[in-house]
Amino acid sequence: TYEELRHKEKLAFIGEMATTIGHEIRNPLASLKGFTQLQREKYPEDQYYFSIMDKEVDRINTIVNDLLVLGRPRSAHFTKNNLKNIIEYVVSISQQLANQKNTKIDVWIEEDLPLIECDENQIKQVLINLIKNGIESMPEDGKLKIHVKKADENSVSISVIDHGCGISKEEMTNLFEPFFTTKEDGTGLGLMVTRKIIEDHQGKIEIESEVNQGTKVEVLLPIRQ
Ligand code: ADP
Ligand code: MG
Repeated sequence: TYEELRHKEKLAFIGEMATTIGHEIRNPLASLKGFTQLQREKYPEDQYYFSIMDKEVDRINTIVNDLLVLGRPRSAHFTKNNLKNIIEYVVSISQQLANQKNTKIDVWIEEDLPLIECDENQIKQVLINLIKNGIESMPEDGKLKIHVKKADENSVSISVIDHGCGISKEEMTNLFEPFFTTKEDGTGLGLMVTRKIIEDHQGKIEIESEVNQGTKVEVLLPIRQ
């Protein structure tokens, strides 16, 4: 459809921009970060301002890294991976964010899952984005569920389920748009990058949500590419 075409063109444009300027931005950022650190040691009374500068530089880095994913050429680095290991790794590095809000992460993985042909780092990034969104959607003491099972002969299903604020019908139509965010400190790039990676894997992403009830995001990944 016209909408899909427009979306593809937009992605291609952003991807091109990202690769062209992404690396150029990274180098000056690295020196900014380094020199901020130096000054920080020299002016201990200004810790507050330095920590803000540091956080803002990190934020630019996050945005640039997300944009670089969009610019990456189609041929990802596909190898056979054990999904259980990937999930356990991702959950372990999400634990810090979860602890801040006292969120419990519940993981259930079906026994004897087949190996999945995928780009390990990209799938990690997808899961990190979804887990992060789930945790961010909930108040303190929430529970995030991750369910992994075989969907059929050729694919596996990964669901990330929260009991958070949910997504309204209106928001639902904008979720994958670049820079769409309802968060004060969001980048609005997470889901866009997520969708791009899943499409590169010939997979699918489905979102079901009810306002004030919660959200279920299901990712279907083919076992073989
Ligand atoms: P960001 O997290 O930086 O805002 P994303 O692309 O990850 O960007 O998400 C875009 C928007 O989609 C979020 O700002 C939020 O409004 C909505 N969203 C995504 N996941 C969830 C979720 N699990 N629960 C509620 N809203 C969500
Ligand atoms: Mg996000």
